[in-house]
Amino acid sequence: MSVAVYFYQEDLIDVGVSFVLSLVLGYLVFHYLIEKYVYSKIKLIYKLIHNLKLGKDLKDALGEYVSNDPINDVEQEVKEWARVKKIEIDALKKQEKFRRDFLGNISHELKTPLFAVQGYIEALSDDAMEDPELARSFLSKASKNIERLSALISDLDAISKLESGEMQILYQRFDITALIREVFEQMELKARTKNITLTFKEKYQTSTFVYADKAKITQVLSNLIENSIKYGKEDGTTSLKIFELHDQILVEVTDDGNGIEEKHLSRIFERFFRVDKSRSRQEGGSGLGLAIVKHILEAHEQTITVRSTSGVGTTFAFTLARNK
Ligand code: ADP
Repeated sequence: MSVAVYFYQEDLIDVGVSFVLSLVLGYLVFHYLIEKYVYSKIKLIYKLIHNLKLGKDLKDALGEYVSNDPINDVEQEVKEWARVKKIEIDALKKQEKFRRDFLGNISHELKTPLFAVQGYIEALSDDAMEDPELARSFLSKASKNIERLSALISDLDAISKLESGEMQILYQRFDITALIREVFEQMELKARTKNITLTFKEKYQTSTFVYADKAKITQVLSNLIENSIKYGKEDGTTSLKIFELHDQILVEVTDDGNGIEEKHLSRIFERFFRVDKSRSRQEGGSGLGLAIVKHILEAHEQTITVRSTSGVGTTFAFTLARNK
């Protein structure tokens, strides 16, 4: 009986030892497999994502950095990676929509005057030639549309150069009061067609020097003053004011025209945005004037704002760097 119990105990020990041994062996094999096929792969993915995030090239992305806890960290990294990529994809989609809209707008804008010219030429070659009066009127309309086309092309050229950063800002010191008077002289004829008075008070006779690109600020002033005439009322007034701030000059262009409704104000500097499309076209506008103005001022690291009251008038105010 005691011999049987002895054997029975030995068997139990053998079974226990083999169980523990197989457990240890199983663990080692399992650990080895996990390490070889899963853990090392996760480490690779982790290193790849981490180093790509640091801006390394793909070929260097499997570099040195290894986390102490890649399994947990890889989850965080993947989440962060996905978040950043989503933002980038959304921005690219927005840009793509912007690009498509822009191309659509350009072709539409070019088509309108081009088809008008084509129409007048066809009419001339049909029977309008017989009537010299009519022929002259068609030729003059065709020529106005060609002017519109070339103004549009030069605005498109300006905006694409400004947006790509190709257009350099050539800074110089100049007197802004003298420039305002010069631009007023150039606009005099246009203002007279609507009997609009251009005012710049006597008190601004003393020179006020700014540091900016004179040719581009001339364009800013021309666009704003021209708009105040185009969208101003008959017998109205456009007045220019300047204010000396600490290290800047504030220039204000104010008209007493129809104004811009509040709901449109936030979009007024967008390319091709017009409150009243037919009025803008009738005035020969490209819809790019204010976008160009904003780009020019931003390239100078300056700002432009607009305030307007429907039926009362509009004020555009922009800053320039002061040069004492
Ligand atoms: P465009 O005059 O060629 O249409 P702009 O970019 O210069 O293009 O102006 C965009 C729009 O802003 C105009 O179509 C017009 O509706 C509005 N706008 C600009 N200036 C004024 C102003 N002084 N008064 C009223 N509306 C204005």
